[in-house]
Amino acid sequence: MSSRLPDFVDPWRLANLGKQLSGAVGLGELSRLAEALVSVEGESLFTLEFYRDEKKRARIKGNVEAELVLECQRCLEPVTLPVDAEVNLAVIEVAAEAELLPDECDPVMVEEGRIQLLDLIEDELLLAIPQVPMHPQAHARWRWRRCLPMVTSKMCSRKVRQMRLTLLPFWLG
Ligand SMILES: [Zn+2]
Repeated sequence: MSSRLPDFVDPWRLANLGKQLSGAVGLGELSRLAEALVSVEGESLFTLEFYRDEKKRARIKGNVEAELVLECQRCLEPVTLPVDAEVNLAVIEVAAEAELLPDECDPVMVEEGRIQLLDLIEDELLLAIPQVPMHPQAHARWRWRRCLPMVTSKMCSRKVRQMRLTLLPFWLG
């Protein structure tokens, strides 16, 4: 366990030691991710376990979770989406090694014998962002209503009217 994060780690060394790293990273520290967020308040919690698999590959398993505040693509208001990304990585040195990996794991490439921990965590969170973030889907019609009142409070009335017309069939249906 370690709460103080090194910037770079040697994944082979950690795998040999069977080390587990866990901690928290402020979302504001992850600049690529921050660009996609409405708010960078909060942090991401992670646990990463390093080990050697049966082929002696250095592997990293664990999870990265965070509550991400994104822009709802239906009402353009912030929507908080909890993400919990499962990490299952194999450390590789050259791209060709990626083809030899089992389907269930993704490659992570070392640079000069090390990997950048924050980059790894950030990549996992970026991959976990849905392509079209939205308030919970209209499985039940009341959920549309939950999304809509926020629209009416912030958007100009013409846009709201258009939106209402578009959504009317859902309300009535
Ligand atoms: Zn919404």
